[in-house]
Amino acid sequence: MITVIALVLTLLTFAFVVYPFFKPRPHSAEQVEDEKLQDLHSQRDTTYSMLKELEFDFQSGVLTEEDYRDLESKYRGKAISLLQNIDELGKDRDIDQEIEKQVLALRRSKGQTCTQCGARSREANRFCSRCGASLNRGEQVD
Ligand SMILES: [Zn+2]
Repeated sequence: MITVIALVLTLLTFAFVVYPFFKPRPHSAEQVEDEKLQDLHSQRDTTYSMLKELEFDFQSGVLTEEDYRDLESKYRGKAISLLQNIDELGKDRDIDQEIEKQVLALRRSKGQTCTQCGARSREANRFCSRCGASLNRGEQVD
């Protein structure tokens, strides 16, 4: 019997040690951010339910008012900082997406390069906006 228990324990320990290596790892920065965001969301939810529980404990007389105020402000502070973190992560992501969109739009927009000074102009322009040379319509650059 003892051998069986020892064997099971060994296997459990082995599984515990080996498990992290088989766990799928996040690859891109975005995935890491997603996990961070999910983590923050679940922490926030936990904090909210703690606050609810505190209020319940206080109302049912388990906590004194002093304890309640103390714990409540602690959890409230935690919730606020979590929300700020979530907000920041979300904002970073929006800005990233915005920049990516702009870059893509720039790449897609056709333009032409001035043969005199090399400045890029919009496709519709007939003269270079930098040096005023007339633009060759045939030389469009993607
Ligand atoms: Zn020019």
